[in-house]
Amino acid sequence: MSIKVLPAEVAAKIAAGEVVERPASVVKELVENAIDAEATEIKIEMRQGGIRLMRVVDNGCGIPGDEVELAFARHSTSKLESASDLARVSTLGFRGEALASIAAVAQVTLISRTAQESVGTQVKVENDTIVGREGKGCPQGTVVTVENLFYNVPARLKFLRRESTEAGHISQLVSCYALAYPELRFSLLRDGRLAFQSTGSGKLYDVLVKVYGLEAARQMLPVESDNGVSDRDLRPTAEGDQTSIRVHGYVSSPSLHRSNRRYLTFFVNRRWVQDRSLSYAASEAYHTLLPTGRYPIVVLNVDLDPAEMDVNVHPTKREVRFRRGNEVFAAVQKAVRRVLTESSPLPTVASRPYPVGSPPEGPSFWGQPRRLTGVGGERRPLGQLAMEVQRTAEDALSTAVPPQLRPKLPMLRVLGQLGQTYIIAEGPGGMYLIDQHTAHERVLYERFTAERARMAVASQQLLSPLPLELTPRQHAAMAEHVEALAELGFEIEPFGGETFLLRAVPAVLERGPSTSSGRGDIGQAVAEILDELAEEGTGETREEKALISVVCHSAVRAGQTLSMEEMRDLVRQLEETSLPHTCPHGRPTMIHLSAEQLAREFGRR
Ligand code: ADP
Ligand code: MG
Repeated sequence: MSIKVLPAEVAAKIAAGEVVERPASVVKELVENAIDAEATEIKIEMRQGGIRLMRVVDNGCGIPGDEVELAFARHSTSKLESASDLARVSTLGFRGEALASIAAVAQVTLISRTAQESVGTQVKVENDTIVGREGKGCPQGTVVTVENLFYNVPARLKFLRRESTEAGHISQLVSCYALAYPELRFSLLRDGRLAFQSTGSGKLYDVLVKVYGLEAARQMLPVESDNGVSDRDLRPTAEGDQTSIRVHGYVSSPSLHRSNRRYLTFFVNRRWVQDRSLSYAASEAYHTLLPTGRYPIVVLNVDLDPAEMDVNVHPTKREVRFRRGNEVFAAVQKAVRRVLTESSPLPTVASRPYPVGSPPEGPSFWGQPRRLTGVGGERRPLGQLAMEVQRTAEDALSTAVPPQLRPKLPMLRVLGQLGQTYIIAEGPGGMYLIDQHTAHERVLYERFTAERARMAVASQQLLSPLPLELTPRQHAAMAEHVEALAELGFEIEPFGGETFLLRAVPAVLERGPSTSSGRGDIGQAVAEILDELAEEGTGETREEKALISVVCHSAVRAGQTLSMEEMRDLVRQLEETSLPHTCPHGRPTMIHLSAEQLAREFGRR
C-alpha cells in the first residue's frame, strides 16, 4: 500500500482513542474542566455505567457564546498561550483536546452561559461536527451531556466492561476528585439515585468519612510535612532558588489495611496521578508494620512548583514526571514514616485506635490555594495552539533510607513469664504483656538489617558440612534466592542429585532455639526456611523475605522457659529497636493494659 494521509475523521478518532479509553475518562475530562472553570458545585450523572449517558453540571465561569464552537476544535484552549507555558502548567487541562476527542466518539450537547451574558448557548456535536446551535436560558455555568459513547467506534465498544465495572471506575474517579478538592461540593447520580455526595466544607476529613466510612476515617492519621520544615524541604536548587516539596493528607494507622493497592491515592498539585514510585514510597514507610500482602489506605497530595514536573507525558494526564524524583520520593516516605512512628499505636486490651467521637485534627485544606484559570483569575479567551510536546525523563528513582527513628518504649520492669510464652512487665503506663517470640523477632530483625547494611553479617562455619536432601520445590527456592541467602551468611553447595552441602549458616540461626539442641535441627530449620521462600510472592523483596524467615527461625519460641535474666535482656533489646510494637510480619509484640483500665476493671473508678 502507498502512504496516504488519513481522512480527518479517521485521524480524529485515533487521537480521541488516546484521551477517551472508557466512560470514566470522559467524566475525568469534564470534571477537570469544571474545576478549571472555578466551579464550587459539580454534579455528575451517569446512566448504565456512563455508556448510555454522562452529564457534568457546573456553576463555573461558563464559555462565551462566540467561543462555544471553538471549544470543540482540537488543540483549542483558554489555559495556555505558548509552548513555554507548558513548563509551568497550573490548570488541570491544557492540551485543548478533551472536548474535541469526546465529540469524535460520542454525541455531545453543551449548554453554557457566562456571567456577562443574559442568554446561554446550546450546541450539539456529532461525529466531530456541530449539528445544532440555539440560544437557551440557563443558570451561569456549563452542562455537558455525553451520550452513546463509542456508538461510532464498534471496536472500542466491544472492549467496554460490564456496566457495573464502568460505573465503579466513575465512582472512584468522583471520590478522588472530591478528596482532592474538599472545598467543592460534588454529587454523583447513578441511574437516578444519589450515589455519593461531598459537603464542600473544605475539610478533607469530611470527605474521607464520605469515601471510606466513619470507622476507617477514624483510624486515619493526618500527615502534614511542613510541621517541621526540614533542611531537605527547603534546600535551594542548583539555580539557587528555594523550592519546597510539601506532603499533606491522611494515611491509615497500621491497624487499618486492605488487601490491594487500590486504596493508595495520590495527587500532585491536586491532580490525581498514577505513580508507582509514590505508591512504593508510601508502602515502604509501612515496612514491617503491616502483615505481608496488606496495604495501607493513603490519600496524599504532593505540593510542588509546577515547573518541577512535567504533566505532558500522556494524553490522559494521569502520569507525571518529576524533575527531582528522588526528592519527591523521599519527602513522601519521610512524611508518612514520621506520622507512623510518632503515633505508633500500641494495642491495648480493648483495642481502639482513637477514642470514639474525636476525629484526629488534620489538614482542613490542602495547603495550597485554588489554581486560577488564567492570569489574575481572568478567564483567557479561547485560542488555538499548536501543541508542542516536550518530554523530560531525567528522574531515576532510588530507594531512600527511612530516617533514623526514636525508640518509643518506656523502661519496663520484668515481673515474670506467663504460659512460657509471654513476658509480664510493668512500666509507667501500667502492665505490658510481651510476646517473647515476636519481640525477639523484632530485635533480631533490626540487628540483622543493620549488620547487612554494614555488610557485616556474622556467618558461622559448621564443624563439618551437613548434607541436605532437598525437595524439588526447596531446590527451586534455593536457586531463586541464592544471592539473598549468601548475603545472610549461608554457604550451600551442590553435592550431586538433590543433595546439597551446608557449610555455613547465619550465626544468629546457629545460636537459635531450633538448632542449639542438635545438628539435625539446623538442617530442619534450613529446609523450613526454603519452604517459606517457595511460598507465593508476598510483596517483599527476595532479600527481605529470606531475612524475615531466618529471623523467625532464630527467635525464641513460644513454650520456651526463659530465666528472669534472659527476659530482662530481651526487653532491654526491644527497648532499643526503632519499631518495638510489631514484629517484621506486622504482628504485635505486646499488649498494654493501662493503669486506668485496671482501675476500671476492678471498679476503682
Ligand atoms: P482544555 O481543558 O485542555 O483547555 P478542553 O477540550 O477540555 O481543553 O476544553 C477546551 C476549552 O473549553 C477550555 O480551555 C475552556 O476554555 C473551555 N471549557 C471546557 N469546559 C468548560 C467548562 N465546564 N466551563 C468553562 N469553560 C470550559
Ligand atoms: Mg479540559
